[in-house]
Amino acid sequence: MRLIIDAHEDIAWNILTFGRDPTRSVAETRAVEASTPIPLQQGEVLLGYPDYVRGGVAVAFATLHVMPERRKLHDWETLSYATQQDAHRLAQAQADAYHRLVDDHAEKFQLVDHQAALREVLETWSGDPPRAPRVGLVLLIEGADCVRQPDELHEWYANGVRIVGPAWAGTRYSGGTREPGPLSSDGRALLDIMADLGMMLDLSHMAEQAFFEALDRFPGTLFASHSNVRALLDGSPTPDRHLSEAMIRRVAEREGVIGVVPYNRFLKGGWLPADGRAVVTVELLVRHIDHICQLLGDARHVGLGSDFDGGFGLDQIPAGLDSIADLRFIGDALQRSGYKPADVDAILSGNWLRILRQGLPES
Ligand SMILES: [Zn+2]
Repeated sequence: MRLIIDAHEDIAWNILTFGRDPTRSVAETRAVEASTPIPLQQGEVLLGYPDYVRGGVAVAFATLHVMPERRKLHDWETLSYATQQDAHRLAQAQADAYHRLVDDHAEKFQLVDHQAALREVLETWSGDPPRAPRVGLVLLIEGADCVRQPDELHEWYANGVRIVGPAWAGTRYSGGTREPGPLSSDGRALLDIMADLGMMLDLSHMAEQAFFEALDRFPGTLFASHSNVRALLDGSPTPDRHLSEAMIRRVAEREGVIGVVPYNRFLKGGWLPADGRAVVTVELLVRHIDHICQLLGDARHVGLGSDFDGGFGLDQIPAGLDSIADLRFIGDALQRSGYKPADVDAILSGNWLRILRQGLPES
């Protein structure tokens, strides 16, 4: 079975915001939610354990994500914070949700916080079909205001977090999406402690100035978990959310990887749900992947970062994809457009595997 690693999923945010159960199938959750407001608020669900298994999605980078109150759009967005104390409490609740998930469903999900855990998870996917596959979760802080002081990172590390994205919106540490700015002095301290601890850096959402400063300062493993190609997004309301050619080149120079996002607004500038799914195809996602590969001259620096169920659902992903099980169709589309099987494997899992083998601690 061809395996997939997905570098961005807000699983705990869904557990705590909507009471979703990631051990259920997508079909089951859709049936349960049909009589609730959730499909209209967030869209129909895309994540569920049986669907990970059908799709060969063996590892997901699983976020602790909270948003500042100033960016809250809906009443149902309950995980928003006014103070860093709130942010800390809400992110801690998400860490607890992941620990409960892997404790209560050890046969389905496993925390991947060191190399042996990664090997164990991959081992469960051998055999065709695999007998008892477990989805590995690598914990990722998205927006670091939940870290109340830079040296509190030691506690987050002890709690299993291995990746930090300093920004979402702007944070105390870094300029962010629609809030341009540099790294703050605390942001520089944060990166230094991350480097000491051996944590990985997620550059997605960092404002351009902070992004380049972080690349200069941080010596460790880095990547952009979920970002697309700015040059292909004329008409996007958030061009700063995506990567310029210079940003893509710098990530690649550091042997980083860019996770492209199968989210229609990030594939076709100016797309709105009213335009319908049919006008956005998987081929459009292949164009983003191919742009990065052509620019760099290889297929070693791009992967997938679906962001599935991260504020959007079924009605906002490309036509032809129905759930996490269908990420494999992106591989089929790459092969149809001439990509060799080895390059498809690198894009679907190999490049992220290289990052994890380099960036996770031995024990
Ligand atoms: Zn995000």
